[in-house]
Amino acid sequence: MTPNMLNLQTLSTVLYPAGYYAHRIPFDLRVTYPAGWTAFTALKEDGRSGDTVDYQDVPLDILVDSPVYAGRHAKNIDLTPAGSKVPVKLGVIADAPKYLEAKPEQVARHKAMVEQALKLFGAQHYDHYQFLFSLSEQMGGNGLEHQRSSENGVGTDYFTGWNEKTGFTDLLAHEYTHSWNGKYRRPADLWTPNFNVPMQDSLLWVYEGQTQYWGNVLAARSGMRPLPASIDALALVAATYAENRPGLSWRNIQDTTNDPIIANRAPRAYRNYQLSEDYYSGGQLIWLEADALIRAKTGGKKSLDDFARAFFGINDGEWEKQNTYTFDTVVATLDGVLPYDWATFLRERLDGKKGLTGGIEAAGWRLVFKDTPSAYAKANARWGGADFTYSLGLSVGKDGTINDVRWDGPAFNAGIGSGASVVAVNGQAYSNDALEEAVKAAAKDPKASIELLLKEFDRYRTVKLEYHGGLRYPHLERIPGKPDLLTPILTARK
Ligand SMILES: [Zn+2]
Repeated sequence: MTPNMLNLQTLSTVLYPAGYYAHRIPFDLRVTYPAGWTAFTALKEDGRSGDTVDYQDVPLDILVDSPVYAGRHAKNIDLTPAGSKVPVKLGVIADAPKYLEAKPEQVARHKAMVEQALKLFGAQHYDHYQFLFSLSEQMGGNGLEHQRSSENGVGTDYFTGWNEKTGFTDLLAHEYTHSWNGKYRRPADLWTPNFNVPMQDSLLWVYEGQTQYWGNVLAARSGMRPLPASIDALALVAATYAENRPGLSWRNIQDTTNDPIIANRAPRAYRNYQLSEDYYSGGQLIWLEADALIRAKTGGKKSLDDFARAFFGINDGEWEKQNTYTFDTVVATLDGVLPYDWATFLRERLDGKKGLTGGIEAAGWRLVFKDTPSAYAKANARWGGADFTYSLGLSVGKDGTINDVRWDGPAFNAGIGSGASVVAVNGQAYSNDALEEAVKAAAKDPKASIELLLKEFDRYRTVKLEYHGGLRYPHLERIPGKPDLLTPILTARK
């Protein structure tokens, strides 16, 4: 909670008898809000007395899945597509009223995202859907899915600082996709009868991996993120799995589905070697390859859209009970779209027997490195630092602090670790420009080394980097003569 807003976590405020079916325990929620505040939630109001709202009785599982965002400055924007009887709303709360000012063309893109999702999935698994959206520098960022709502939190400048070229984040499209993928259709080993039974995560590469895929696709199809920026965003993911995941030599994507249990999202040094929740973006690339394969083998007649329709677009209107699936259900549904050895296709990629970037080339594009970052990459380097991941093998914050070091990269092999600060480059005080210039100079002269003065706690030392490969930033470019399957994937459906 901040002086202007509240995220009321029903999950964290509830007491319940342990060991009973959560769906059989009824709750009657009443909330007293600060005077004049507006509250958004998937729960329906039963009545009001002053500032106290009485919500309709719901079972424990639905209560826990229905948080409330409330705020002093609030606006509920209607995103219901024309002709649909099921309301979809974007409830925004902000640090100040001026941040609520969404332009009509911005609202139109959010509405288009909902329209494109309905075209993709067909059925809806809610009786109404309420986005909960905070624009704040005081309340933490958020992205958390629910069946009839989602919690989303970004900075205050979401609407007012909108960059039309790089577009909006895929956050809302991602969390909205979860209503279908993860909440209604739920991995059988992740579904539990109550909150005392631990969940199992073996299918998170569907739950999160395919949501990561559709979130990015819907952001592109709706115009929330323009096509060039969408391709640039994919280039960053492709580069990660082509060059910045040396940890795949010992750990595979399937194993990373255990990460939420063993690591609990704690920050981790050398993520590129330890890996983390790689089933998100690694999964995204597996689904891109599956999509490209279906499109290529059917001459563009079928695609992963057909899988989405068959898998998620069933039982329109059903939402109070979940529909569970196993690995075999996924394989059988894919087989219904295109008969193929899908079990082997998926297992090879999940178990680390095949690389993850095959979908880029299958879609008619290839990963290349250029000496300048894409506009999208530049706009997303919010921390103000510089990314030398694919050249020196490190990224640096604005003040010279080394954030990440690529395992077995040039910096790593010169004895540089994360956490140290770069004080000077070739005898000159550190700046991003100074380091860039040094990398450029070393690329032209094989005898020029890059000398860094490092500070680690109260000790200084000099490290010489023998790197002559120049600046390298990821981009995608077309493979001449090969059909472009990516542009149709990212183009709005009629
Ligand atoms: Zn997610």
